[in-house]
Amino acid sequence: MTSPQTPTPDELAALRQRYRHERERRVRPDGAGQYRDADAEFGFYAADPYVGEVAGREPLRDSVDVAVVGGGFGGILAGARLRQRGVERVRVIDKGGDFGGTWYWNRYPGVHCDIESHVYLPMLDETGYVPEWKYSPGEEIRLHAVRIARQFDLYADALFSTSVTTLTWEKDSRTWIVATDRGDTFRATYVITATGPLTEPKLPGIPGIEDFKGHTFHTSRWDYAYTGGTPEGGLTGLADKRVGVVGTGATGVQVIPMLAEDAGHVHVFQRTPSTVDVRANRRTTARDVGAERDGWARERRDNFLRIVSGEESGVDLVADGWTSSAGLLEKLLPSFRRSGSRDAFEAAYEAADAAKMNEVRARVERTVTDPATAERLKPWYRYACKRPAFSDLYYPAFNRSNVTLVDTADTHGIERVTENGVVVGGTVYELDCLIFATGFSVGVSGIHSGKLPVLGRGGTTLLDAWARHGVRTLHGATSNGFPNLIQMGSLQNASSVNFTHVLDEQAVHAAALVAAAEAKGALIEPSREAEDAWITTMARDAPDHEWFHADCTPGYYNREGRGRPNGPSAYPHGARAFHELLRRWREESIDEVLA
Ligand code: NDP
Repeated sequence: MTSPQTPTPDELAALRQRYRHERERRVRPDGAGQYRDADAEFGFYAADPYVGEVAGREPLRDSVDVAVVGGGFGGILAGARLRQRGVERVRVIDKGGDFGGTWYWNRYPGVHCDIESHVYLPMLDETGYVPEWKYSPGEEIRLHAVRIARQFDLYADALFSTSVTTLTWEKDSRTWIVATDRGDTFRATYVITATGPLTEPKLPGIPGIEDFKGHTFHTSRWDYAYTGGTPEGGLTGLADKRVGVVGTGATGVQVIPMLAEDAGHVHVFQRTPSTVDVRANRRTTARDVGAERDGWARERRDNFLRIVSGEESGVDLVADGWTSSAGLLEKLLPSFRRSGSRDAFEAAYEAADAAKMNEVRARVERTVTDPATAERLKPWYRYACKRPAFSDLYYPAFNRSNVTLVDTADTHGIERVTENGVVVGGTVYELDCLIFATGFSVGVSGIHSGKLPVLGRGGTTLLDAWARHGVRTLHGATSNGFPNLIQMGSLQNASSVNFTHVLDEQAVHAAALVAAAEAKGALIEPSREAEDAWITTMARDAPDHEWFHADCTPGYYNREGRGRPNGPSAYPHGARAFHELLRRWREESIDEVLA
């Protein structure tokens, strides 16, 4: 039986063809090479809009137990978990003027988290904080980062407005020498890198981008001095301005309705429409989330992870767009976990996907009154090709007379920027202000781009070691040749949309490693055999991404249309299983990395 929502085989065939056509319109021969590094090429992004002039200070020459590179949630959680283990001198170093990481930098109007706050904000059980909204505004999240840092006394030794420039292992003293751009050279027995996946803003390499004479900035460096207002709105400085926004990803979807409220006119330059699902944000009380019970937050977070990892769960505590569409994200799981044949799975998956995307396209049609604009806003790709977005304000913004949608797909993005505006399809759009919501080099931090050299045994850099032999870690955390270095992030460990959960488990792990090394007076360093075994484990059941991503519209999920290579990038059995594996390993085998 075919339900009304289930597409017929003919409809599915037509969809496949449409998706292929839309993909072809967008694939560019230069792939990821189309982007430019905003910091390196446009130095002004290096300035911190939240601290103004950075106060001078004497360079440090002291020693700490642990240096934590990065003061976002990864670094904060590492610090907090180390404190729980009794580690005293923990120094978090961050380029920003305070804790918060991505929530420190991204304060654009409308900034919110679209993962439920009660599962996204870490350490709610430990801090006793209960978020006020189902989806927190950025400022609530940033202040929670500050709350954890205060509670675990991380300010005492922290260094802000400071970038680590090199990390060098010194064999004789068995310490790391940490050098910074403020002239510091201090020692740390252990280094934890928590440099984050969204730290390098990127700009499109549009010809003439430097020529624009109006005002311009990237959303991660919002210029309120120019726009007026706050993340809550009130952008009075834009009342008489013609504003252009490039980018309609998760950031663009949040920013555009706020600009529509206040700007004279908004031109939205869209290349690929996002899938914008229902958000239904609302105030929440402690009672709504059962926060009177001990351990409520841990239980809720585990429940969310279980569901988005594709596991059976009797109850869905979060009940939102992520959990209801979890099956559509399950593609990342290896086929052996699915019952039945691969063909049967793929057919059922494709039909469910088409039904979901039809629902989103119908939402556009229902909401946007101008049929031509509605048509251009419809996403034509499979659900998991791009990160879904959630908003109840985005589509209605296009019904306003001061908002114009400019489709740039046929020209693979904006053709040219001039002194006065933007050119698409030969039409010039004159602008006073051009805002780039063009995202980040996802997953690339200074350590992976080479901006922050990490020199291990014999002066070998981590990147050189990996260039020779491929990425090599045990659990994504430690690497042979780099003693007492613990890495946090998304390489060779678990992957989840709720990234703070993954980071917290990594922080617990890092703190346990440090405590065990201290207790034994040993160095933390996996053998090459342990790394080999881990890589084999990851590769053995690695999901087959290729069949899915090859047909996807381009984006950072599939290296801008080049496909996503199969291979060991994340633990194939899901985040929950990975966390359980780590827990057991700590109980039974931690000694194997202590020498
Ligand atoms: P994205 O990389 O997701 O989006 C960038 C946008 O810029 C895309 O729409 C892209 O189009 C567009 N673009 C790039 N180049 C051009 C060009 N030459 N011409 C026209 N358009 C162009 O960046 P975001 O900042 O939206 O998101 C970054 C990360 O932050 C993501 O991982 C996101 O999930 C995360 N995030 C999370 C939030 C949360 O609530 N948890 C909130 C906001 C962001 P195209 O798609 O065609 O490439």
